[in-house]
Amino acid sequence: MEKILIVKGNIIFTKVSNRFECYEDHYIISINGIIEGIYKVLPQKYENCTVKDYGERFIIPGFVDLHLHAAQFLQCGMGMTKKLLDWLNDYTFDLEKQFQDVSFAKEVYKRFADQLVAKGTLRACIFGSTSTKGTEILFEVLKEKGIGAYVGKVNMDRNAPDFIIETTEESIKGTKYLIEKYKDEKRVRPIITPRFAPTSTEDLLQRLGELAEKYNIPVQSHVSENIDEINWVGALFPDSKNYVDVYDKHGLFGQTPTVMAHGIYLDKDELNRVKRNKVTLTHCPDSNVNVRSGIMPLRKYLNMGLQIGLGSDIAGGHKIALNEAMVRAIQLSKLVNMRKPEYEILSASEAFYLGTKGGGSFFGKTGSFEKGYLFDALVIEDDEWIANRYGLEDRLESFLYIGDDRNICARYVEGCEI
Ligand SMILES: [Zn+2]
Repeated sequence: MEKILIVKGNIIFTKVSNRFECYEDHYIISINGIIEGIYKVLPQKYENCTVKDYGERFIIPGFVDLHLHAAQFLQCGMGMTKKLLDWLNDYTFDLEKQFQDVSFAKEVYKRFADQLVAKGTLRACIFGSTSTKGTEILFEVLKEKGIGAYVGKVNMDRNAPDFIIETTEESIKGTKYLIEKYKDEKRVRPIITPRFAPTSTEDLLQRLGELAEKYNIPVQSHVSENIDEINWVGALFPDSKNYVDVYDKHGLFGQTPTVMAHGIYLDKDELNRVKRNKVTLTHCPDSNVNVRSGIMPLRKYLNMGLQIGLGSDIAGGHKIALNEAMVRAIQLSKLVNMRKPEYEILSASEAFYLGTKGGGSFFGKTGSFEKGYLFDALVIEDDEWIANRYGLEDRLESFLYIGDDRNICARYVEGCEI
């Protein structure tokens, strides 16, 4: 039987990045979770259906976070004066090892998932830890929450402390187990997740590439985040032309759908491969600043027509709310613009697009309210003084800057309220 959902309210979303689509006081209809259309007047055939009327509130697509680490959730906001490699050694590895403890994993992942959903993220690409059991719990917790996610067991077989490192064999075995268990899941699905090139042997990367191809599983990792890291990759992989080449030659760069975090210092050859292989890059503005890696040249990449989404990068980023990442992306673009006026600042609609439809395209048709898209939505209630005096675009911008979970009064994933 068809499951029809009709919600009414002020609808705002982006089809293209440079402008908002606004439908005040309209109906949005989804059938079996897929958007059928937006109407000013309810079509006659739906006259007898129940309408969820949200009155003055406004309805936006759910947020899509393309890069975050569930196993770093407890360390948000800690060690923020360190640079990337020291921060990993001094904080992250020690915490991640604790996810071998199943009851610890359960408790922390529940808190993580509660916060993620509370803040409005309804789709996410998530790193677990090297622990297969711990990552299995993450799958289960997210399934229970009802959101959409790609979840990866982190692979790491060298250049990390002994207490967290795995053998290549263990790493592949755990990854394969999770792929076979979850590959046919509807919403929470596996993704191949080498932490990054420096903690992977060539053998591990090769075998992960083979798994990706065999099961047609997407890939996520980090690339070109930090100058020390890039130099390290050059020393560890002397036969590779550049950082991207390390992944590309092992079938981990667009051979299946691939999302790479950061990509701050990509050279011309690397950018050509990003474009040619249709790899999605994730801009993580908070962590760009927190671990002082540098600022992604976002405007340049957008001008090149690269596929870009936004990431909170918990816990290199300290806030899980994606509206805050949107704001930070705008702020960073202003800092860049003050030094390089040729790089135009990011507009509110562009930032919103990156955090909804831009990232959403990695999941298929999500992040917009166009016909045929999945109805993933947030219902926002703002202050009535603002609601009564300002237009929809101003109200949304205000929510992005100063709103939080207290303003989100309903969340829908594929037409079901969660
Ligand atoms: Zn990361």
